[in-house]
Amino acid sequence: MVKDNKGLVIGIDLGTTYSCVAVWQQQNNRVEIIHNDQGNNTTPSCVAFTDHQRLIGDAAKNQAAANPENTIFDAKRLIGRKYSDPLVQKDKMLWPFKVVAGVNDKPMISVKYKGQKKKLCAEEVLSMVLSKMRDIAEAYLEQPVKSAVITVPAYFNDSQRSSTTDAGDIIGLNVIRIINEPTAAAIAYGLDKRNDCVGKRNIFVFDFGGGTFDVSLLTISNKVFQVKATGGNTHLGGEDIDNKMVKYFLEEMKRKNKVDLSGNPRALRRLKNACERVKRTLSCVVTTDIEVDCLFQGIDFRSSISRAKFEEINMDIFEECMETVDRCLRDANMDKNNVHDIVLVGGSSRIPKVQELLQHFFNGKDLCHSLNPDEAVAYGAAVQAALLSGGIKNVPDLVLKDVTPLSLGVLVSEDVMSVVIPRNTSIPVKKKKQYKTTIDNQSLVSINVYEGERARASDNNLLGSFVISGFPPAPRGYLFDVTFVLNDNGILTVTGEEKSTGNRNEITITNVKGRLSTAEINIMIQEAAKYKSEDEKFLKKAKTMNDLDYHIYKIRKDLKKEDISSKLSSKEMEDINFTISRATDMLDGLIKIEDIIALEDCLKELKAIFKRITVMEKVE
Ligand code: AMP
Repeated sequence: MVKDNKGLVIGIDLGTTYSCVAVWQQQNNRVEIIHNDQGNNTTPSCVAFTDHQRLIGDAAKNQAAANPENTIFDAKRLIGRKYSDPLVQKDKMLWPFKVVAGVNDKPMISVKYKGQKKKLCAEEVLSMVLSKMRDIAEAYLEQPVKSAVITVPAYFNDSQRSSTTDAGDIIGLNVIRIINEPTAAAIAYGLDKRNDCVGKRNIFVFDFGGGTFDVSLLTISNKVFQVKATGGNTHLGGEDIDNKMVKYFLEEMKRKNKVDLSGNPRALRRLKNACERVKRTLSCVVTTDIEVDCLFQGIDFRSSISRAKFEEINMDIFEECMETVDRCLRDANMDKNNVHDIVLVGGSSRIPKVQELLQHFFNGKDLCHSLNPDEAVAYGAAVQAALLSGGIKNVPDLVLKDVTPLSLGVLVSEDVMSVVIPRNTSIPVKKKKQYKTTIDNQSLVSINVYEGERARASDNNLLGSFVISGFPPAPRGYLFDVTFVLNDNGILTVTGEEKSTGNRNEITITNVKGRLSTAEINIMIQEAAKYKSEDEKFLKKAKTMNDLDYHIYKIRKDLKKEDISSKLSSKEMEDINFTISRATDMLDGLIKIEDIIALEDCLKELKAIFKRITVMEKVE
């Protein structure tokens, strides 16, 4: 147990499908992956709402088939996006839960909780997953945890990174650093190997998870990690493979059984779960069966699939991965023969065909399997957390450098994107550029900040705008400065300044593109506290009912013993029977329980009876 860490900071891999939490163990000088209450090292990033309670993690996932409309997964796919985003529209078609447009085109997930309709944004759902991960860490460490390093896919833009910080704010978790998932994996890998790292080492991180695919090229030189290039797809992962298999088996059912279950969320969920299991099995065997009892209209679905067929169905996904690998190396201007290590991260990197294609791409080079693909990212996050909080004493010179995933710039005349910070620049970074007024006696300029790789600004992503005013009368071509500052978390501040008058204005890209406002976050903080107290109340009630049930059972059993019942007067027997029958009615729902006090009172009475009986037994 870690006991004496002041300001303990944990590392959280907040994954699309699974999350993982880790901490640096100061005593042993190593990372500890923290298992959850089920003994698992990863926890489903899943939240469910029922008529009685809210569930997070395994408990939520386990009841997904029975309650598909109110079981939310993949919320990370919605983070920092608009409802009208084509990716959101595409995802929406595959989800059994409902997503609707909210204020400012923000996607909202609609669920039923305790019989009432509720709308939640992605940040709220992720904050619930984060709270579960924090609870897991607190239970293990036996102390409160206030701060964390959280990982995000390398492709996350400014808004998505900021929204992840918002998710932490909602539950009062101080997100001290956001780092890229593959970078975290590389830290984990680099820390293991850095003693035998001679000169410069180029490391390629291939992270193929449940919902995202990230690749990164890093160099380690003199104990400095530098991310040279990143690439990936926020919408490519094991889930897409599962969906392809679902589609394949749906077609098979249509052909063989003449039924179409595509409109039945419960059946779809059960089929998807079975497909995921089949997929995992096919990573170690070459053919396997799929069986789902009573899948739809009483039909027991039985079939089999070979690894070859599985590979054929998913070949376009695998090929897309390899194209991304190639693009990343070209971006970094690096020959594949100069890559020293290829690191596998993410559960889907276990797929044999993926490994085969990757190895073939790198001309037969061995792939590194030394990290557990499910834990590497949280491992790296925990190392980074310890470095930032001073938890690691013996490696003070370990420095992490990250890069910006997209170019950042401003709009200049004719809709041209003028890049100030090019893609893949190491962060933190500050860059200044001079621009000119375009008309005579121009008194103000409007600065429009964009991110993206397209030449036309309007084809890129508008992050925000502001105005600098008070320019002195002057012919066109009057100079002014624009400064971009990108901090360690990849969050951008842009300043515009007119030197002679000192007039300046700035914008920190925070409240654009659907990011939550402070007022909205405050409301969600209150909601989070409400959920927490409701969960606690529910658990307390469930525990009391369990205790009640146990005592009824024990008392009834004892009363059957002749030596005990014979010592009780008929009045005492009557009172005991009355209390037991009231307790039973409470458990069966025949007596409506308005609050837990009635249950607790009844439990107290039962405990007193039980104590008396036990004493009688002992006297005997
Ligand atoms: P991650 O996001 O890294 O936790 O990866 C989760 C994804 O990896 C899920 O889609 C899993 O179905 C997938 N996965 C886990 N183990 C295997 C395996 N042995 N073979 C294929 N896919 C796997």
